[in-house]
This record gives sequence, structure tokens and C-alpha cells, in this order.
Amino acid sequence: MSDTTRTTPQPPQGVAPAGDAPAGDAPASALAALADAACAAAEGAQTEEALAEVERTYVGKKGSIRQRMSSLGQLPPEARPAFGKAVNEAAQRVEGAVALRREALTAAARAAALSAPTFDPTLPGAAPAPGAVHPLTLIDWRLDEIFRSMGFYVLDYPEVDTDYFNFEGLNIPADHPARDMQDTFWLTNGNLLRTHTSAGQVRAMRQFKPPFKAIFPGRVFRYESTDASHDHTFHQVEGLFVSRHVSVAHLIASMKTLLSEVFGREVTVRLRPGYFPFVEPGFELDISCLVCGGSGCSVCKRSGWVELLPCGLIHPNVLRAGGLDPAEWQGWAFGLGLSRLVMMRYQIEDIRHLLGGDVRFWAQFNGSGLE
Ligand SMILES: [Zn+2]
Repeated sequence: MSDTTRTTPQPPQGVAPAGDAPAGDAPASALAALADAACAAAEGAQTEEALAEVERTYVGKKGSIRQRMSSLGQLPPEARPAFGKAVNEAAQRVEGAVALRREALTAAARAAALSAPTFDPTLPGAAPAPGAVHPLTLIDWRLDEIFRSMGFYVLDYPEVDTDYFNFEGLNIPADHPARDMQDTFWLTNGNLLRTHTSAGQVRAMRQFKPPFKAIFPGRVFRYESTDASHDHTFHQVEGLFVSRHVSVAHLIASMKTLLSEVFGREVTVRLRPGYFPFVEPGFELDISCLVCGGSGCSVCKRSGWVELLPCGLIHPNVLRAGGLDPAEWQGWAFGLGLSRLVMMRYQIEDIRHLLGGDVRFWAQFNGSGLE
């Protein structure tokens, strides 16, 4: 028997033997018979897979009906158009039957799925995980509220700024060594990512008629390596008060009000002389480290104090850049490290957590945080 099988001539590849008749030998009726068989097979298919097999066998690229086209050349020329048309019609008829059957099978499958007893619509759904406001945002809102209550505007200035507003207008000309303290992301067009919110000072002076008070919170950028207390992107709040008579005492009082409101208790502060080109005199305001209580940790660099706030009286050159006459107007300014304040407030030991995007870290902050 095996010999017989071996010597049986095989049909050309892709041509189904069933119903196959030589082309040109009553080709139209043979085609019709083949299409009838294909339609019957499609209607009888009980599964998607069986239907796909029928489709492949008859009207696939190498299916028996499509293959008929290859025998077109053996026909007399006058018979070819009619035969080609017949092949196409037969194929379309089968494709129609397949599509109809596929629709029926899909509908049946859907009905079966819906009526299956395994689906229990009374089971509780998957609840979405509750979100929370980012601590930076919370502290920012709180600061805005505190400063508004003291008569400050809350302003927003560009993160991409010009050399003039970030440096030049703040009494930091191109050759000034203070530029070295702020490694800057420069853009190819000569602009930069602001290195401090102080970039808004001259803008604010040009925008508002003094006397006025304003803060401008936002992101700032430094091109520097990161560690527990440094990141390339962090947040500051700049504050400005421009009036005819302004004093350091007023500045300190405002800062103390702010810090005790934010921390909800008295905070130990100290004022040291500090050099910043845009203030004269300039100060560093430090607060006692709230993470370690003053005993020394990575946030306070083992000193017990955290540098929170450079401040001072606005330099006359900066007033001039803002279009104000220093003989008539004075002002004070401060730059508050918002990221550092948030770290102090929530006792976060590494600044990189703030923008690190680790959900496990954020899951700890599930309330407003300021109750
Ligand atoms: Zn500390």
C-alpha cells in the first residue's frame, strides 16, 4: 500500500484535489461546482479555525479557485475574458459565504460568553488607586496663601529665559565670577534654563508700578552632578518688595512669619552675611535642621544648619535694570529653596526623591499633608 501512495501523482501545490477539473474542459461549470463545494464547506464550519481553513483552501492566495487563473494562458484568447470573470465571481461568492459564516460564528461566541455562568456582575470592581498632591505643590500652595495674606502678588515667569534677566540685569555681567557658582544649561540660541527664580526680579519691576510685593515660585535648573542635597532640577520661590522705605527688619519679620506658618512652630533661624551680586547688603538665612534636630545629618551636611534663604536689599544696579531710580525706590528680595523647605517640612533625606518618580516613595504622602 505504501508503494501505491508513493507513486500516486501529487496535485500541483496549493490546488485542492476536490472538484478539480482541467481548465478549458467545461471550465465554467467546473468552477461553479467548486464554488458550491466551498460555500457548503464554509456554511458547515463550526469554528473560526475551520472557517479560516476553508477560506485558505479555496480563495486564499494559493487556494484552488484563485489558482485557476494560472491556467488562463492555456485557453484560446477569445475565451479568456469570460473565464477570468468567472473565476473572480466564483471567488467573490465564496468570500461572501465565508464572511457571512464568520459573522454568525462571532455572534454565537459573544452570546455564549455573555450567557456563561462564570461572569458575576455583582463582584466588586477594581478600585482606582487614590492619588495625592505632590508635597512640592502642597507647600507651594501654602506659601502662595501665606504671601497673599501679606499682600503679595503670586507671579509666574518663564523657565527659559535670556542671559539678561538671569544674569546681566541682576548685576552679574558676563565676566563676573558669580556666574561660575551657577553651572548653566545653555540653549543653542543663546538663551538658558533659568538658574534661579531671581530671573523674575527685573521682569517684575518692569511689569508693576511700585510700591508692590510679589513672589514667583517655580522650577530652576543647574548643570551639576547630583547628590542628597543637589539636583539638576529643583524649586525655588523668589520674593520681592519694592517701596520707598524698606528695611532689613521688615525682611526678617516677613521671613519669620513665613517659616513659622509653614512649619507650624517656631523655627530657629540665624542670619549670616552673604554675598550675592544682586543685593547689598546680602545675607544667608539658615534654619536649624529639622531632619536631625541640629545634631547633623546628610541634609545639613553634618552642620545642624540648613542654608534656606539668601536675601538682602536690592542692589541699585538691579533697581536701575528694572527701570527704577535707586534714589527714590528701595527693596528687599529673597530666594527661598522650595525643594529644601519641602525636605525640611516632611523630613525627606534626599532631594532626588522629589522628582524621582518612585511611586513607593509617593505612596507615603496620601493626604493634604498640612492638616
Ligand atoms: Zn540635619
